Amino acid sequence: DEDLAVLDAASEDVDEITYLPALPVVAIVGRPNVGKSALVNRILGRREAVVEDTPGVTRDRVSYQAEWMSRRFTLVDTGGWEPDARGIDASVAAQAEVAIDLADAVMFVVDSNVGATSTDEHVVRMLRKTDKPVYLVANKVDDARLEPQSADLWSLGLGEPYPVSALHGRGVADLLDLVVGGLPEVSAVAKREVGGPRRVAIVGRPNVGKSSLLNKAAGEERVVVNDLAGTTRDPVDEQIELGGKVWRFVDTAGIRRRVHLQQGADFYASLRTSAAVEKAEVAVVVLDVTQPISEQDVRIVDLVLEAGRALVIAYNKWDLLDDDRRRYLEREIEQNLGHVDWAPRVNISAKTGRHLEKLVPALELALESWDTRIGTGKFNAFLAELVAAHPHPLRGGKQPRILFGTQASSRPPTFVLFTTGFLDAGYRRYIQRRLRELYGFEGSPIVLNMRVRE
Ligand code: GDP
Repeated sequence: DEDLAVLDAASEDVDEITYLPALPVVAIVGRPNVGKSALVNRILGRREAVVEDTPGVTRDRVSYQAEWMSRRFTLVDTGGWEPDARGIDASVAAQAEVAIDLADAVMFVVDSNVGATSTDEHVVRMLRKTDKPVYLVANKVDDARLEPQSADLWSLGLGEPYPVSALHGRGVADLLDLVVGGLPEVSAVAKREVGGPRRVAIVGRPNVGKSSLLNKAAGEERVVVNDLAGTTRDPVDEQIELGGKVWRFVDTAGIRRRVHLQQGADFYASLRTSAAVEKAEVAVVVLDVTQPISEQDVRIVDLVLEAGRALVIAYNKWDLLDDDRRRYLEREIEQNLGHVDWAPRVNISAKTGRHLEKLVPALELALESWDTRIGTGKFNAFLAELVAAHPHPLRGGKQPRILFGTQASSRPPTFVLFTTGFLDAGYRRYIQRRLRELYGFEGSPIVLNMRVRE
């Protein structure tokens, strides 16, 4: 279909979610000041500029949607938080650990003018152990005369160093060709084992009660032995039987093992959250009802949406809720989480065990929605009815028409509409609303993409 321009519904307005299922993940690791931000900016092009590092300042985002030669991937920048000198070793090691966990490929950036430091060598030992592709990026090679010094990095034992200048772009295209060429179509990290237990991530701000919830759930039910012989299960996952079914709680190490670092703990928590959500099929976002709903809470919810995972919201510490706070809470939910009013909600107490039994039906409902497929015939009948009831408004005397639609995939349900013009954001929201009214989709994002015939 050469004449069809592919347009993401979301490219026009930011309040809608764009998502491609399980994009491969490339993580960037390295010491402070080696040029990670510059490399991220270079890879993203002009689309999103990563702000220059200010020491000690945490960047909001750790992952970006990137594209090279029509291949899309998620770029994770582990350098969002730059520690002071004392914390460098530990924090770079923590970055590397998360990156290896999360990524399909790792770009390890070294400053070729400085060479490998002891911090680098520590990370190198970790990187040598992974069987994921690791690319040794020798940065700041601004011209050919500087290339010989990058050859020294062969001694790290990570294979060929790739000399680049992130700032000037030199060598970056060749490097990206290699990295992207070696990526799997679909992230191996997120690939689900058919028939295996479903994967759940428990996420939320520090102290909302994630580990209490996990412990309570695991404690009252039988804990299934972690690693079955001969399987390559991720050791940080835990299998727990709930409601007569085994569930895999992913990345529980991130919950149980407290981040040792004092500084930057929030940043590592958000890296961990990203990693867990990527690996999961459904995320339980835990909120503390005694605290006002914060921007960080909303960001975590949005991270789940952007990743296209099913969503359940657990309102924890319900035992501490009084009537006054309760009224505020409901208002805050309306104001801050109105965009996910379709997510199943459980009001729980990880401490007393209140309503914990409601978690499993909520998870099941969300996953069922996430798995839903609507046949093409049924979907087009839906579209015809919808258009008859409420046609797209005229725009400049013309009316964009929907020619045909189909569900391209599930997990999450992703629809493609073939149209004669770009549909207004309001109209797209109307379609989504009607889809939810008719088919439910409780607990699952819905993605609506368009192909516009120019
Ligand atoms: P995490 O950082 O999200 O894993 O949070 P924790 O599970 O460590 O909980 C933080 C604190 O809140 C601990 O002191 C818990 O005992 C307490 N807590 C967790 N859930 C509840 C709850 O439902 N009710 C009450 N009253 N306290 C809770």
